[in-house]
Amino acid sequence: MAESARGITPGFLVLFGPPGSGKGTQAAILAERLGVPAISTGDILRAAVAAGTPLGQRVAAVLAAGALVDDGLMQEVVDERLRAPDTARGAILDGFPRTVAQAEGLETMLRRLDGEVRAAVLISVPTEELVRRALLRGRGDDEESVIRERLRVYEEKTAPVAEFYRQRGLLARVDGHRRVEQVTDAIVAVLEEAVAPRAAT
Ligand code: AMP
Repeated sequence: MAESARGITPGFLVLFGPPGSGKGTQAAILAERLGVPAISTGDILRAAVAAGTPLGQRVAAVLAAGALVDDGLMQEVVDERLRAPDTARGAILDGFPRTVAQAEGLETMLRRLDGEVRAAVLISVPTEELVRRALLRGRGDDEESVIRERLRVYEEKTAPVAEFYRQRGLLARVDGHRRVEQVTDAIVAVLEEAVAPRAAT
């Protein structure tokens, strides 16, 4: 990917972490700072449900149960979104990939777009804090049993995504149990490190 006039091209940054880790908040702040879009698959799906589109009708029950939408369908949704012209310099991916199959699919999609994942940041927060935050947030799918199901699904399906990126040397862990600005600064530091031209010594 070429360097843009604004400096280093951020490329694609994957943000993941358990539900309630603050990845949505961080994605929005980082998108603003870096001048690239934040792509939240949760937001895309919730908007589809609210609008009653065919996609929304297909996924409504899955979201309500705190389960994961199937990989093939998610791939279609993200593939379409990534083809929009605003992703030319990269994007912040919030909530995708959430399974190893999705992470593999993303590699293929980005190869076609001549892009790449520059870093995958795992935002970690202790479980009791996640449950507390989720209950405070009080979103439609935030009933306590659904919260616990989403945490269970995260451990089973999404935690292995960390290993996928670790093997590629792209994984960074950031402590998410801090003030929002401190978490943002830590993620920016990771990204700067990832995109900095390596000194040729
Ligand atoms: P989020 O806002 O990222 O927590 O996503 C809300 C819900 O949307 C999740 O609990 C899943 O049901 C669904 N969802 C979002 N992103 C994905 C994904 N990448 N794969 C499967 N399901 C997803």
